[in-house]
Amino acid sequence: MTRPIVALTSLLLSAAAISPALGAKTCAHPDKALGVSRIIEIDTKSGPLFGEFTKLEKEPRFLGPKEVVLTFDDGPLPRYTKPILDALDQFCTKATFFNVGEMAMAYPNMVKEVIARGHTVGAHTWSHPMNLRHESLAKAEDQIERGFAAVTLAAGQPVAPFFRFPGLSDSGPMLAYLQERGIAAFTVDIISNDSYIGSPQRLIQRTMAQIAHRNGGIVLFHDIKASTAKALPTILADLKKGGYKIVMLRPKSTYTPLPVLTAELEAKRAKAEEKGGGKPKPVPTFTSIAPSTLEAANSEPAVTELAPEPRERTHVGGTPATATAPVTATAPVTTEEPAAQPTTHHKRRYSRRAHVTKYNTVPSLGAIVSGSF
Ligand SMILES: [Zn+2]
Repeated sequence: MTRPIVALTSLLLSAAAISPALGAKTCAHPDKALGVSRIIEIDTKSGPLFGEFTKLEKEPRFLGPKEVVLTFDDGPLPRYTKPILDALDQFCTKATFFNVGEMAMAYPNMVKEVIARGHTVGAHTWSHPMNLRHESLAKAEDQIERGFAAVTLAAGQPVAPFFRFPGLSDSGPMLAYLQERGIAAFTVDIISNDSYIGSPQRLIQRTMAQIAHRNGGIVLFHDIKASTAKALPTILADLKKGGYKIVMLRPKSTYTPLPVLTAELEAKRAKAEEKGGGKPKPVPTFTSIAPSTLEAANSEPAVTELAPEPRERTHVGGTPATATAPVTATAPVTTEEPAAQPTTHHKRRYSRRAHVTKYNTVPSLGAIVSGSF
């Protein structure tokens, strides 16, 4: 049965949906607890861009020395997302997950679980095209919006207006679009390279060396990689040992999906359920959520508010972006222009071949539509 859009939109202002239960006081392993040293609550309405790994104009670093933000892209994929959540729970700490829309639709319970365990969830496009700069602007915008709509639908509640470009391939016109939609983009400071490192031991060493070199920062992992799931407990223990502090990001307000896309995805989901005899294909089950992460803590870490001023960004053709533009209920803008060219740096790091290798575990849209949600 298709759920009415109103059921979803009525949740949009639910503050509870983005208030993590931080459980530091009731942490299951206080001796090992890395915890959360502070929360940064980000007002995204100016469409800020955070992180070092970009050539575009960005916000200044918001982290202090030895402060670390943990981020996980490309999931959810239960067989790796689940142990990653368990490791984060074990160390009583929190992360941000940039989910791919197709993955979220395939594993909606996993998205719900990530949120239930108190983490922040944003989006990472609908189907993870390797480089949005190679797409028309209209297609890129559709990827962004459809990804968010899918993650929101899978979550059953609003998600953070936090976006990460696949391959970190951003562009001025796409940022202008995000600015108008009140979405923050996050690039990274530290690339763990877990897409290419199969050995957990090597991943631990490299990641820790990079974190030390940069004195903390926003770290990029992928929750679709076995090596990441295996390495994470040691990385968290090493961060604790090294005196690093985990900073949690959360949004001041949530993302508002375009109703037309929500309706489209709901219809697709209903069709798939119907095809499967009215029963969605069983999704992996989860062990009970550790009480330590679900109980509201009395000792929530200090919250720092961050509300960057809008930057002057322009669409293709030079039209200035307006940060306060009203949200339209129609499909995204359809300006057709050649995409900006990637830098040689990006080309080197994110070759198409590497992407295909990395992505061969991701279910195709066909698999999703055939009833796996
Ligand atoms: Zn990715």
